[in-house]
Amino acid sequence: MSSGALPVIVVGGGITGLSAAWELQQRGAPYVLLEASDRLGGKVQTEHTDDGFLVEHAADAFILGKPYAAQLAREVGLEPDIIHPREDTKRLYFLKGGQLIDFPQNMKMFVPLDDEAFLRSGVLSPEGARRFLDEVNVPAKPTTDEDESLAAFITRRFGEAALNFIVPLAAGIYVANPFELSMKAAFPQFLALEQKYGSVILGSRATVRAPGPVFASFQGGMAALAQAIADRLTGEVRLNTRVQQVQSDGVLLEDGQHLRGSGVIVTTPAGSAAPMFEQHFGRAAGLIGALKANGSVAVVLAYRADQFPGDMQLHGLQVDASEGIHLKAVTVHSAKLHGRAPEGHVLLRVFFKDLDPGFALEEAQREVQRLFGAQGEPLWHLCADWRGKNPAYQVGHLEHLQQIRASLPANIQVAGASYTGVGLPDCVNAGRGAAQAAAGQLSVV
Ligand SMILES: Cc1cc2nc3c(=O)[nH]c(=O)nc-3n(C[C@H](O)[C@H](O)[C@H](O)COP(=O)(O)OP(=O)(O)OC[C@H]3O[C@@H](n4cnc5c(N)ncnc54)[C@H](O)[C@@H]3O)c2cc1C
Repeated sequence: MSSGALPVIVVGGGITGLSAAWELQQRGAPYVLLEASDRLGGKVQTEHTDDGFLVEHAADAFILGKPYAAQLAREVGLEPDIIHPREDTKRLYFLKGGQLIDFPQNMKMFVPLDDEAFLRSGVLSPEGARRFLDEVNVPAKPTTDEDESLAAFITRRFGEAALNFIVPLAAGIYVANPFELSMKAAFPQFLALEQKYGSVILGSRATVRAPGPVFASFQGGMAALAQAIADRLTGEVRLNTRVQQVQSDGVLLEDGQHLRGSGVIVTTPAGSAAPMFEQHFGRAAGLIGALKANGSVAVVLAYRADQFPGDMQLHGLQVDASEGIHLKAVTVHSAKLHGRAPEGHVLLRVFFKDLDPGFALEEAQREVQRLFGAQGEPLWHLCADWRGKNPAYQVGHLEHLQQIRASLPANIQVAGASYTGVGLPDCVNAGRGAAQAAAGQLSVV
């Protein structure tokens, strides 16, 4: 198939772009992968410090319920390196009213499988918890094409008080405004449970989860996936190559070079994709540019274990949405996954929404001292600044996406976290799906 065919041009070397290139390779389709920076992996960034810590700047694990990332990991020979969050330290706190409460046992995401344990836990007031559990009696909304926000969905099914509990758990990965976040784009599974079982709680309880871990990572950190794919790509991969314009027959690079291709798959975030379309696909540029992004900052703090009065053998904490503080969540990375910190040390990731990184650092240290009793300064710190980098998926997102697709010719595609799911499995699936479509349309010189 490849001889004489123009390559498919893949713009962006994050997980979506790497997955697209991998899929094209599997199909014997020629490709060129263009990455603006000097490294592959995009937001997947793992750092190994000189003093023996493994630091994740963004993703630290991926969900197994959507099989695409695990499948790709197997294809690139990473199966032996797959690890899972530790069961022996699987303890989570919920910060509410300034108190650290044990997260209720036996939950499936935010859905309690044990009513009594949920009522006892104190994560909601007694009235709030009873209303929450009464979700089983709330009639399903008639099927409609209309989208709704996460906040509207939670309020109508679980009661308003439930917002403060569910939002940090459900919307965390989107760092989203729950009043803007699209149910249809972000949580179609809950809408499906409502329609099929008449209740999210009843549906969650009726659908038995496959036994085994829910999340996975890699011994060498998440960047191992990007590296393993990259190591196995035999096609052309160009780093330090910024695409300036997408054209109907290829792309224009920043250095003025024109590259011809049979198709183009743009996998960069919407904010950097929109300008590429301005010159030749104005309508698409406007629609892509209208996609909103939220921001987050992750502060990473390293300590000696003896700086804490307790043993810090827990996965972390989530913060009630009404707490009125900047802090959103803490992951005790050293306890959540093996191999993230040297023996006798604690590695924390402290999450905030849009916040000046300097201020976030001060806040992180203050909160770690207040909540966990940390003594003294951290050994070192770093800030992963993701302001403006988290896709927002506003209500109506799927219809908007249809319009974007309709505004582009079939050989020009957009794919990745800005469009069909921010988690790594969704990015892998999006990249591979776009590649399959592109491989089917290869044109010959
Ligand atoms: C703080 C944080 C925590 C997260 N945690 C998790 C998690 O635990 N689990 C999970 O599954 N997901 C997580 N995610 C989401 C996930 O990491 C991302 O959605 C995913 O990595 C995005 O991949 P992508 O390839 O679509 O885009 P990106 O990773 O953004 O890659 C796009 C690439 O395009 C390149 N590029 C940009 N402009 C151009 C241009 N003009 N020309 C050429 N190249 C260009 C960029 O340099 C970049 O390499 C997290 C995200 C963040 C920010």
